[in-house]
Amino acid sequence: MSNAVKEKIAEMKDWLVETRRTLHMNPELGFEEVETAKLVAGYLDKFGLRVRTGMARTGVIGLLEGSKPGRTVAIRADMDALPMEEANQVPYCSKAKGKMHACGHDAHVTILLGVARLFSSLSQEVQGNIKWIFQPAEEGGGGGRVLTEEGVLEDPKVDAIFGAHLFPDLQIGKVGIHEKEGLAATDRFVIKMIGRGAHGAYPHLSRDPIAAVGHLITQIHTIVSRSISPLDSAVITIGKVSGGTAFNIIPDEAEILGTVRSLTPQVRQELKSRMEQATRGVAESFGMDSAFDFQYGYPALVNDPEMSRLIATACAKGIGKENVEFIRPSMGGEDFSYYLQKVPGSFFRLGCRNEAKGIVHPFHSSRFDIDEEVLPFGVEMFARIIDEYLGLKLF
Ligand SMILES: [Zn+2]
Ligand SMILES: [Zn+2]
Repeated sequence: MSNAVKEKIAEMKDWLVETRRTLHMNPELGFEEVETAKLVAGYLDKFGLRVRTGMARTGVIGLLEGSKPGRTVAIRADMDALPMEEANQVPYCSKAKGKMHACGHDAHVTILLGVARLFSSLSQEVQGNIKWIFQPAEEGGGGGRVLTEEGVLEDPKVDAIFGAHLFPDLQIGKVGIHEKEGLAATDRFVIKMIGRGAHGAYPHLSRDPIAAVGHLITQIHTIVSRSISPLDSAVITIGKVSGGTAFNIIPDEAEILGTVRSLTPQVRQELKSRMEQATRGVAESFGMDSAFDFQYGYPALVNDPEMSRLIATACAKGIGKENVEFIRPSMGGEDFSYYLQKVPGSFFRLGCRNEAKGIVHPFHSSRFDIDEEVLPFGVEMFARIIDEYLGLKLF
């Protein structure tokens, strides 16, 4: 990148750190990002972008129309924090009780604001449009789904979209790319075994749902190993088992809850139908009823390989091929998948790990923190990707 552009990014580093810390100290949960949205809209307005607020409640959209017509590229950041207490003892620690930016969305917002600041000073050189999407509620609320339903990819129509997530498994200064499948579909289930309660001393008078659930748990754990190809990826985790009230009572019902992860629609369907079969089969064998409730969550995130390669090319120009890694998918989830169902694009990873600084804690840990060097680094990577996609040659 030309020194001029690199210099502009270097100059904004203090502001990036300050902005990230302000956001970090004032975390807001999904669809409640009121102050965050105000801060974002304020800056976008100051940078001279066309600003739209109120989409998906707290979403903020910015648009920069270049001096010449061309394609429209969108970039997206999620804004929400998590309902947990921060354990870090840092000057910029969360000030909101029971809320914390433990997934780095404060940094995502900051990086995109940095990109906005950068391009607002280069608008004469932009051919085409750049759209900024600041999205509410990634952590389970599906803000990305709501925004796509509300038409965020229209007016002007988005030709390609890029997003990034910090990645504490990857060293600072590195970019990770999922060529195609990046993250999993995140479905949930609730299964009830509906038997007949009785005194614990007279089991023959009952239809014991606890015994049935025990068998079902074993049965369900054979689905991934026996019904899914070893070359495909799948997870079924039972996260909660409940039923009963006392040591000498056989309850009427018992219940299990869990999460199901898959990377393809075929595996997703197979997992669901095998679980349903196992539930019915076990209930039948115990002479009881069952209820099977499968709730679809985010679809699998599938990148466009061409766009992934574009990221690799663009980033390698700045940081060298050795710092760009193609990485395996993760079985976590991301509602960026909804955008990718509508337009080509790619979701990549920005390394934020720095063992020397003690920055090693995983996402959603009360000790999660980032190496703030990732802020200017992230701005540069997004700038390079936009530059490459729109063919601006800012270098
Ligand atoms: Zn998260
Ligand atoms: Zn996240």
